Amino acid sequence: MEENVNVTELFGCDVFNDAVMEERLPKKVYKELKETIEEGKELSLEIADVVAHEMKEWAIEKGATHFSHWFQPMTGVTAEKHDAFITAPKENGKVLLSFSGKELIQGEPDASSFPSGGLRATFEARGYTTWDCTSPAFVRHDSAGGILCIPTAFCSYTGEALDQKTPLLRSMEAVNKQALRILRLFGNTTAKRVTPSVGAEQEYFLVDKEKWLKRKDLIYTGRTLFGAMPPKGQEMDDHYLGTIRQRVSAYMKEVNEECWKLGVAAKTQHNEVAPAQHELAPIYAPVNIAQDHNQIMMRILKKVASRHGMRCLLHEKPFAGVNGSGKHNNWSLTSDDGVNLLDPGKNPHENKMFLLVLACILKAVDEHADLLRVSAADVGNDQRLGGNEAPPAVISVFLGDQLEDVLDQILKNGEATHSIKGEKFATGVTTLPDFRKDATDRNRTSPFAFTGNKFEFRMLGSQDSLSNCNVVLNTIAAEAFEEACDRLEKAEDFDKELNALIVEYTEKHKRIIFSGNGYSKEWQEEAKRRGLPNLPTMVDAIPALTTDAAIDMFEHFKVFTKAELEARAEIQYEIYAKAINIEARTMIDMATKQIIPAVVKYTTVLAESVNQVRAAGKTYNVSVQEKLLEKTSALLAESYEALNHLAEVTAEIEKKEEGPERARYCLDVIMPAMTELRTPVDALEMIVDKEMWPMPSYGDLMFIL
Ligand code: ADP
Ligand code: MG
Repeated sequence: MEENVNVTELFGCDVFNDAVMEERLPKKVYKELKETIEEGKELSLEIADVVAHEMKEWAIEKGATHFSHWFQPMTGVTAEKHDAFITAPKENGKVLLSFSGKELIQGEPDASSFPSGGLRATFEARGYTTWDCTSPAFVRHDSAGGILCIPTAFCSYTGEALDQKTPLLRSMEAVNKQALRILRLFGNTTAKRVTPSVGAEQEYFLVDKEKWLKRKDLIYTGRTLFGAMPPKGQEMDDHYLGTIRQRVSAYMKEVNEECWKLGVAAKTQHNEVAPAQHELAPIYAPVNIAQDHNQIMMRILKKVASRHGMRCLLHEKPFAGVNGSGKHNNWSLTSDDGVNLLDPGKNPHENKMFLLVLACILKAVDEHADLLRVSAADVGNDQRLGGNEAPPAVISVFLGDQLEDVLDQILKNGEATHSIKGEKFATGVTTLPDFRKDATDRNRTSPFAFTGNKFEFRMLGSQDSLSNCNVVLNTIAAEAFEEACDRLEKAEDFDKELNALIVEYTEKHKRIIFSGNGYSKEWQEEAKRRGLPNLPTMVDAIPALTTDAAIDMFEHFKVFTKAELEARAEIQYEIYAKAINIEARTMIDMATKQIIPAVVKYTTVLAESVNQVRAAGKTYNVSVQEKLLEKTSALLAESYEALNHLAEVTAEIEKKEEGPERARYCLDVIMPAMTELRTPVDALEMIVDKEMWPMPSYGDLMFIL
């Protein structure tokens, strides 16, 4: 019998959280640390020494031997360098265990091997990590033993952010300041902080490890570069919310337990639309914590899969032809005294503060749609966005019937007098209770959808960091709030100015609202008529980072400097070209060494069959073998030609100038050449003897676990 899990005891047991700090730290130290965490007060080295000591004692009890500053460079994954707690051996040959305040607060990893986009010349290798005490330290157990992980920010010698964390914290400050002004305007005097909260729904695929090992494309690129569709895909809609397979539920159980130990409130799990696709969502948290937790969760998803003989694929589009994976970013703004600025209440038409916030968000999203788009730009996501399952690359906002109706009233009559209510819905079955419908249905095709008391940004890719899109959301909201507050604070007639603002913003930015089918072709055309930007690929989206509007805004709110933005753009181009280059080389490798040799063997078998059957007797019919041989040989020749072409154009990549030119070349020349090779190879997979095909098929990968 399995042991029962005591979830309340398990939850957070490996986290140096507030409860642990309160229990273990001297009162005075605890108080000072709390002031640092909550009010940003500077932490003295003296206090840090005490905290570090207690943290070490606690970590050792938890089995830790090392500590590590844990940070999030611009690679999209986390980085760490482990240091043992041991001091130099004494004369008697013994060591002590120590951890100082200085080691807690600051680290100095060599920054030269992380992407910096030219922010740091190679000879200036210094980079610093500094403790982000707003996110708790934790002990992680894996094959390296117990590691005390200390969440940190990472910056260069000259102070520029080299990570995903620093700008996120800066953007939280920006939106906090401006959102507080809104609350004050509406008479709230108690709130001290407004924090963006995020709940991220994480999608992923699971495949068998042995099969994964036979797919070089999965190993090197995270997605399949070849693969014909199996007889069955996702057309039966029988996987979504279906019964979870035993092997997968055992996996999910362990994932949850590992998450809970580290304080990640893993809550909802289910099968997703595509075969072998699943989802896990934690309960929402302040965005910087949500960001750390999402990184922790992605690592756990991978680590536990490995223990269960599986691989967890976090790529946005591991398989062509079925849904890809996203990471829905549910975002709201909540004050410490319990106000959710995105909560419309029962009667949105009367909730002027909500209507102002809503109008500001429409304005923000319309004016900076390109920035939201680039925040979800990722090489893998290019394969997913605009497909039949993911939001299109055009940004629009879905509000739902109720809010759209309120805004309509405002536009027509200058004010709104009523809100549509959800009707009572009779089930028609006496034993089932009737229920009240929500006033608004959902829209699954919108990239930015209002869902009751939060916005859901659905464009983000599954392996992306939560940072970029929330940096953008926080900052564009801050900008719109600031402008509105500037006007309202000096208004002679507050109510009049408030109404005028709501009308003006709604009128001017209503083009961003769209409730129809975002997957449809008509919407692409309609969006064009409305003048909404359509940036279909990552390469098209990157320039949004460095427009004047972006630089002005980010510099104004001290979220990014111009240099930091330029660096980020440069890194994005570099990542794009490198990823496509790896994909192309992987295809060349697989086609040259595995696929073409296998097909050659198959043609030989066919040819031998023709000859041998003929030799056995003149009258036997060999037309099938002959037809197959003809078809296979033709596709083989086509594949070979495409392979040579891909090899030629790939050899040119390095010759293109780094940056936009090289990325554009990869998009315009390499990608089509990859498709040209894939097409005949996938056709071959459908006719070549399965025993001879050199790798597991889509069917093997997705249906047999
Ligand atoms: P869906 O029905 O779209 O799958 P859920 O209602 O289950 O979504 O919520 C998805 C995520 O949104 C969860 O992580 C949840 O904690 C989070 N969430 C719920 N309310 C809020 C909120 N006010 N702010 C931010 N995130 C929220
Ligand atoms: Mg959702």
